[in-house]
Amino acid sequence: MDYQALLEQIAQDVSQLIGSGRTAEYIPALAKVDPRRFGMAVADIDGNVYGVGDWQRPFSTQSITKVFALALALASGGDSLWKHVGREPSGNPFNSLVQLEYENGIPRNPFINAGALVVTDRLQSLTGDASSELLDFLRQESGNPDLAFDPQVAESESTHGDRNAALAHFMASYGNITNPVPTLLDHYFWQCAIEMSCADLALAARFLARHGLRADGSRLLTRSEAKQINAVMLTCGTYDAAGEFAHRVGLPGKSGVGGGIVAVVPGRCTLCVWSPGLDRRGNSVAGVAALDRFTTLTGLSVF
Ligand code: GLN
Repeated sequence: MDYQALLEQIAQDVSQLIGSGRTAEYIPALAKVDPRRFGMAVADIDGNVYGVGDWQRPFSTQSITKVFALALALASGGDSLWKHVGREPSGNPFNSLVQLEYENGIPRNPFINAGALVVTDRLQSLTGDASSELLDFLRQESGNPDLAFDPQVAESESTHGDRNAALAHFMASYGNITNPVPTLLDHYFWQCAIEMSCADLALAARFLARHGLRADGSRLLTRSEAKQINAVMLTCGTYDAAGEFAHRVGLPGKSGVGGGIVAVVPGRCTLCVWSPGLDRRGNSVAGVAALDRFTTLTGLSVF
C-alpha cells in the first residue's frame, strides 16, 4: 500500500474541515492552540512511518494517554483491574459525574475521566510513580527520548481541575481510590500533559496492532489483552460519540481534547491524526473525517 500517496490524498480531501470546531476552552493552555493545524501519520507494524502536514509537530496528547496507562496497568497488575472499572460505553460526556453514584463509584470504562483516574491510581500503587512510568514507556515505544511533559498544560489543568477533583473524591468515598487524591490528580494531570507528535503516537501504539508485542519484540500484553484494549477503544474510545465513530471509521480509536486521535488496524498498522478543532463531544472534527476517509479509501477496517 502506498501510504504516503494515501495520506496526501486524505489531507486534500479534508482540507475544507481544518479549522472547524473549537479548541478545548476549559483548559486555557489548550484554548490557545492554532486550530488550523493538521497532521496525520501511519506506522506499519515493522515501524516504517509515513506522514503529512504537521505530523512531526508535538501536541498535547490528553486522553490518548488513557490507552497507554490502561495497557501498563493491565500488564503489571493483571485482570483484577476490572473489579474497579467497567467496560461498557457510558453514553455520557467524558467528564460526567452522573453515573458514578448509581453505580457505587465504579466508572463505566477506563476511557472516561473517572475510569482513567481509577487506572492511574492503580498504576501509581503498582509503580510508585505513574506519570514517569508512562513517559518512559512512551519514549521507548516511540523511539523518541525527547518526549516530555508540558508543565504549562499540567498547571493549567490543575488550576481548572475541579471536575476531575470531584470525580476522584467521589470515587474515594466509595473506596475505589487508594492513593491520596491530590497525589493521584497530580499524576493524572501530568499524564494528560505529555506532548507527542502524530509520528510518536503512531509508533508508540504499535503494540496494539502487534497483538501485544512491544517495539523491541518483547511481550507487553497477551494477545487476548491486546484484543480487549482494542475492543474497549472501539466501544468507548471516543466517549458518547463511539457509536458514530464506529459507524464512520470502523476502527478501535482513542481521542483527546488536544485534537489528536489514535486508531489501530490490528495486524497491519497504527494511525494518528491531529487537528485541534473539536466537535461538541470533544473529538477532532477534521481528525474523524480523515480517519473516515482512510478506511473508506483503503477498506482497512475491522469490519
Ligand atoms: N485532561 C483532560 C481532562 O481531564 C482530558 C480529557 C480528554 O482529553 N477528553 O479533562
